[in-house]
Amino acid sequence: MRSPIPDYLLEVVEACGSDNPGATAGYIPELAHADPDRIAVCVSTVDGIVYSAGDADSPFSIQSISKPFVYALALTELGLDAVLDRVGVEPSGEAFNELSLDRESGRPLNPMINAGALTTHALVGPATATPDERFERIRSGLSAFAGRELGVDEAVYESEWGTAYRNSAIANMLRSYAVFDGDPADVVRGYTRQCSITVTARDLALMAATLANGGVQPSTGRRVASRQVVRQVLSVMMSCGMYDAAGDWMSTVGFPAKSGVSGGVLGTLPGQFGIATFSPRLDAHGSSVRGVRMCTRLSADMGMHIMDAPEPARSAIRRDRVLRGPRGNTVRVCSLQGTLQFSGAEHVLRALSDSDGPYTAPAGDRPRGRIDSVILDLRRVHSVDDVAERMLREAVRRLRLDGLRVTVVDPEHVLYPHHRAGDGASDAVVPSLAPLDGYRRL
Ligand code: GLU
Repeated sequence: MRSPIPDYLLEVVEACGSDNPGATAGYIPELAHADPDRIAVCVSTVDGIVYSAGDADSPFSIQSISKPFVYALALTELGLDAVLDRVGVEPSGEAFNELSLDRESGRPLNPMINAGALTTHALVGPATATPDERFERIRSGLSAFAGRELGVDEAVYESEWGTAYRNSAIANMLRSYAVFDGDPADVVRGYTRQCSITVTARDLALMAATLANGGVQPSTGRRVASRQVVRQVLSVMMSCGMYDAAGDWMSTVGFPAKSGVSGGVLGTLPGQFGIATFSPRLDAHGSSVRGVRMCTRLSADMGMHIMDAPEPARSAIRRDRVLRGPRGNTVRVCSLQGTLQFSGAEHVLRALSDSDGPYTAPAGDRPRGRIDSVILDLRRVHSVDDVAERMLREAVRRLRLDGLRVTVVDPEHVLYPHHRAGDGASDAVVPSLAPLDGYRRL
């Protein structure tokens, strides 16, 4: 079978590309002359399959889409607190190139506006790094997110550097408030080079998928950022990523995203996939007109709004039954499934401690007196987060205190990742339900 997904994406390109309003970024001459007819959409899964339609391999400069990734690099190198000392996380509601600082703290409001991005650029690398060394760290850091070596569009760099009056004003303001040390001209030069790094929509989709995948690049398998860093980056993208239209974007499209003035838009559905669109003509906020359209359409068609959350709790228990063994003993087998988080684990705890107690058959089965043991069957569980892990282990402990024999069927080690046979606490962890052969349903 040929997958219908590329056909669907082609339909999105055709429907959203039928007209081409807006204007290319006028303040950077090389971008003003970009071919406005190019259009692309790419979706990358967290295991690195990229579906695309249109000009997915057409190169363009990354511009502001570099900002979340350089923020990630600064967070990785300095830690959250040190970065928060220099750059805030509040939406500014102002244009991306506003000369503004937080009134009270004197910091740039967030790392997605130019004032914050110039600062995070300056924070990358050791204090002794030369501008070239700092840039190289950034180029190779972004390349690790993309999964291939990225280069620089020298024509775009020269063109923007030649007209970088406003960013120079912002950098001088930042320097005068001692937000960063060093020469403001070096910072603007380095930041401009950072914005001139060349990518394709395919690269951006993989960079977005790396964020969706909790920091592990899907095609290389390399961890390029920690989960905590990714969470911080996505949170700031959610509230500040779409320039001064972030609130509108949140309510209509509803996934963390970042746009750039060369026409790219990058979006991330945490745990699911990365998205990238490209079309050079921009709206009044500086985001690609057709890119926003495509993202809006994808979100509506594919249920991508992150507030449309799944219902993991209701589906946590796959089956819950009581079996009688050959010697008359009874065992309650509670089979779980999917991804377990707080709400799913709560569902399980509730079932195991329902009004009749875990000693009787669950609802649906007629109570037949006290049961002797409980089997927690995790064969269909994909993952258990830290909270659910603690809750389920506590359930096991309490059931044992109540005098029940508890066995956990955990062949993939989702609940006891470090289980070794005979290590005491978890020696009732077994790989299969085979010991139940010969048991019958009550
Ligand atoms: N290099 C551009 C600037 O600093 C990036 C702006 C953007 O993409 O929003 O003005």
